[in-house]
Amino acid sequence: MRITVVGVQGAVEEHVIITKLAMKKLGIDGEVVATRRKGVVSKSDGVIIPGGESTTISRLIFRDSIASEILEKAEEGKPIMGTCAGLILLAKHGDEQVERTNTKLLGLLDIWIKRNAFGRQRESFEAVLNIKNIGKFQAVFIRAPAVTKVGKNVDVLATFEDYIVAVQQDKILGFAFHPELTNDTRIHEYFLKLIFE
Ligand code: GLN
Repeated sequence: MRITVVGVQGAVEEHVIITKLAMKKLGIDGEVVATRRKGVVSKSDGVIIPGGESTTISRLIFRDSIASEILEKAEEGKPIMGTCAGLILLAKHGDEQVERTNTKLLGLLDIWIKRNAFGRQRESFEAVLNIKNIGKFQAVFIRAPAVTKVGKNVDVLATFEDYIVAVQQDKILGFAFHPELTNDTRIHEYFLKLIFE
């Protein structure tokens, strides 16, 4: 098994480390690679799009056709997980910030996204969430986006205050926070298990 972390920008290495840990816990023999180049995503069984700056990640993945490889993987039914900026990229409907910056989105989750939803006062914070299928989870939010509305095929996995912060549509997962910044591997284990479903 091979999991690829899209490594053009952002919290890449943290995802590699925690995915390896999750594989170990599940007894899966596999590899986790980070890539900036085309041709790697297409050879993987699952893809992770990390947090960072959605405008930058978008520009680079669409420039180097990594975006089309991700879309092909989704088409094949492989699991794809986006965290924070990665969640923004998976969305179908952007907000005015996405439009103003001409950020191209992958459109794999039928959700309406709001960039930097929690404002300047709370650029980063932690909260305990109750995540469906996972349980209580200490979530780290950093200039996080949020989901304001979902289409009918989208399962809401967690909310925080007035916002939706975790979603699933088939095997596509999106989290507004950074599960790779804790030692808790449960979200990555959940993602890996989708490969076998
Ligand atoms: N604020 C960033 C964006 O809009 C996302 C922040 C993050 O990924 N931690 O792209």
